[in-house]
Amino acid sequence: MVKIAIGGIIHETNTFAPDRTGIEAFAQQSLCEGDAVLQRMRDTPTSLGGSIEGLAQAGYLPVPLLYAAATPSGTVTRDAYEALVGNLLARLRALQPVDGVLLSLHGAMVAEGIDDCEGDILARIRAVVGSGCPIVSTLDMHGNVSPAMLANSDTLVAFDQNPHLDTYERGFEAAAILRRIIDSGLRPTAAYAHPPLLLSALTTWTEQPPLRPMHERAQEMERDPRVVNVSILGGFAYADTPFSGVSAIVTTDKNPVLAGAFARELAQIAWDHRTAAGYKGLAVDDAMRRALNAPRGPVVLADVGDNIGGGTPGDGTVLLQALIDAGAHDAVVVITDPEAVAHAVQVGTGAQIEMLVGGKCDTWHGKSVWLIGVVERLTDGRYCVEGKDHFAQLYGRDVNMGRCAVVRCGGVRVLLNERKTPPGNLAQLRSQGIAPEAQRIIVVKSAVAFRGSYGPIAAEIYEVDTPGLCGADLSRFTYQKLARPIYPLDSGIIY
Ligand SMILES: [Zn+2]
Repeated sequence: MVKIAIGGIIHETNTFAPDRTGIEAFAQQSLCEGDAVLQRMRDTPTSLGGSIEGLAQAGYLPVPLLYAAATPSGTVTRDAYEALVGNLLARLRALQPVDGVLLSLHGAMVAEGIDDCEGDILARIRAVVGSGCPIVSTLDMHGNVSPAMLANSDTLVAFDQNPHLDTYERGFEAAAILRRIIDSGLRPTAAYAHPPLLLSALTTWTEQPPLRPMHERAQEMERDPRVVNVSILGGFAYADTPFSGVSAIVTTDKNPVLAGAFARELAQIAWDHRTAAGYKGLAVDDAMRRALNAPRGPVVLADVGDNIGGGTPGDGTVLLQALIDAGAHDAVVVITDPEAVAHAVQVGTGAQIEMLVGGKCDTWHGKSVWLIGVVERLTDGRYCVEGKDHFAQLYGRDVNMGRCAVVRCGGVRVLLNERKTPPGNLAQLRSQGIAPEAQRIIVVKSAVAFRGSYGPIAAEIYEVDTPGLCGADLSRFTYQKLARPIYPLDSGIIY
């Protein structure tokens, strides 16, 4: 029976964030080894779930190594990185020989001393399995593609959608490509192009330029029988590496000339739409005025700077303070603050409370807010997502926000949680007794991912140019490793 090693190590690293990501962050989100990988990931909407189903349909035997994923956050500690990769490689060595390797990786993982974790992981796997063994991996479309990633893999398949609602399908596609390599003699030949273009998280929405026109052309290219896969990556600007930015990977069946020409054509499309990279959303005052004057709700305000899915702490206070100052009613904000939750638990449901909330993790996301209110509800913060969801597609359906407290301050409800939780799903509020559809204003700490769930119920959506570690204005960040010149940070670039 054809034996395929499967696994993954997934983290989107915000290198500007002051926190470090240790092994406990992976243990808290997803960390399993050996047979537990299959038990846990089979039938999930994740890319690995799709890959497992694809292998099953091919009649192949999936042999699980290790799967680790953590919520986006600061640089991964070297100890955590080496422990994860070392474990995965030890299991792979023990399995030799295998007929192929099928992985789920991100593409924007950075560890202490290693700017290109995926390139490193793929090179170390290649050293174990040798050049004759196919290696196929999925990537998040926020990955920053490096030469080492291309050199040490046979095919890289990035998600096409942001919000990432096609993770399962891309995992399935990766398995199908691996099957063609093994059963049909497919010889993947990939090329990539990397225009000098850096996108904020806000401008990586695949319904807008520059990514949308790239995808439109990519779909045409994928209809060409010589093409195996076209992957468009928006990149992750908050990982400061030499490879950060937009890229296009085109994989053909032993046709390097076509792969190169198509990749360059896609890079040119990105470049032609580069001015879209300058979009920053609305100023806080403008967004607040529009939200307060909207004829009906819910008005969704996207707190772009504190985009938890981009590695921020989720304790940003700028919009909370603005709502309280404006005397807003039927408004809700989620803030991560374990200390405040503990205090609310101590005073109990129905009690008056006064405390400082949010703005405690760093100096990027506004000052702590003096919150005076009533504790409405206390819960264990567990919920199961409804329907398709950006983060469920990455991490699975069961969410644990840690202990939670809902505190009402005038017309503003604050949902305090112990663990930062990206606002990917309406079940987050519903599970805490808050009906999203009945709100006038909902603040979501997200740039794009919230659209999958909140888009259908929103009367209006305003993206707000709030300060933070995922801010839309990239000139606020001090880059040290990024390849320059790059648009929109530098001018006069000839491409
Ligand atoms: Zn992503």
